[in-house]
Amino acid sequence: MSVTPVSSEILAINGGSPVRKTLLPYGRQTLDDDDIHAIVNVLRSGWLTTGPKVEEFEEAFAARVGAKYAVSFSSGTAALHGAAFAAGLKAGDEAITTPMTFCATANCALYQGARPVFADVCRDTLNLDPEQAITKITSKTRAILPVDYAGHPADLDAILQIAERNGLIVIEDACHALGAEYRGRLVGSIAHMTVFSFHPVKHLTTGEGGMVTTERPDLAKTLRRFRNHGIDSDARQRQTAGQWHYEMVLLGFNYRLTDIGCALGLSQMEKLESNLSRRREVADRYTEAFRYIPGVVPPSVRSDVLPAWHLYPIRLDLAHLCADRGQVFRALRAENIGVNVHYIPVHQHPFYRERFGYKGGEYPVAEDAYQHLISLPMFHGISDEDLADVIHAVIKTVGHFAK
Ligand SMILES: *Cc1c(COP(=O)(O)O)cnc(C)c1O
Repeated sequence: MSVTPVSSEILAINGGSPVRKTLLPYGRQTLDDDDIHAIVNVLRSGWLTTGPKVEEFEEAFAARVGAKYAVSFSSGTAALHGAAFAAGLKAGDEAITTPMTFCATANCALYQGARPVFADVCRDTLNLDPEQAITKITSKTRAILPVDYAGHPADLDAILQIAERNGLIVIEDACHALGAEYRGRLVGSIAHMTVFSFHPVKHLTTGEGGMVTTERPDLAKTLRRFRNHGIDSDARQRQTAGQWHYEMVLLGFNYRLTDIGCALGLSQMEKLESNLSRRREVADRYTEAFRYIPGVVPPSVRSDVLPAWHLYPIRLDLAHLCADRGQVFRALRAENIGVNVHYIPVHQHPFYRERFGYKGGEYPVAEDAYQHLISLPMFHGISDEDLADVIHAVIKTVGHFAK
């Protein structure tokens, strides 16, 4: 794709005409007729929830990520809560995580009465820095929650080694990383528990939904109970066995994913490979286009991973620009490019500041990265024309603000 630099154009924010007439979102789902038929068929099947589609989806998912067990949940957040529970997190415990994530990663420790303890991120990937994580370990630490930021796997071997030495459980938040690979292994088969989300902006959607994968039968059993009120069997098992008796053995929730969601998930799984390759193609096109644009730093990729590209976060090199991130962001929005920012470091949210007394400055790498980040539109359904619009708008905007 060739895009001519157009820095002489008037920015839309200054009254020029925008690169696009309609807003291009940063992410969105793709649904085709197969997906719609799958939902119509399940509506006619007699099962709306806790029926055969749940198991079918869980089995197909486990097979895709190379895991022994997959347990579905009503959202990625519910799945994180389930994993925090199964890890045994409780009041007085600590869980080490990254500030460069969606707040749900840290919140799941709080749901269990445990304390999330942040450790700073690596400069290149913005993933949890294992060296920083080590410095946060205390006698109260029970779990580590790395996040595969933007779909680039965290340094899982280093984190698992730290966990093993200190008797900790690793819960990998892979909500960005379905289909990613780390040192030739599939994300979902590496950590003690791996959590996925099926929100519409993710790689496959069930409307709302989530999954935990694990190799351990004891964890899988606890996860299944936790998502169903802590009950030791589900309605379908009892119906099949012709039994009414059940026992509630722990305090759980109703975090079940419906058959409607699972039927959609199964149908979406058929498209996962092509979705992933489109996302990788989009990333390649962006990286190629921005390679020689001063002021734009494409996300870096380590040589031992294959990212899944949930996000494409560029970093602005402000030394080359006479504008800050906010100005570039607003200018791109005015061009109708639905840019976003991932993430406000979690400890900087008012809740965390008030509860834990963070003042800023605690996690300099994450805080500095936050000032420079802009997520460009990244989704599998993006057209080549949309992609050209984004590249055009970035070159136009950054060209305008070039020093
Ligand atoms: C999407 C996401 C979640 C939460 O998933 P939901 O399905 O929206 O509850 C958690 N962590 C990260 C990093 C996410 O991107």
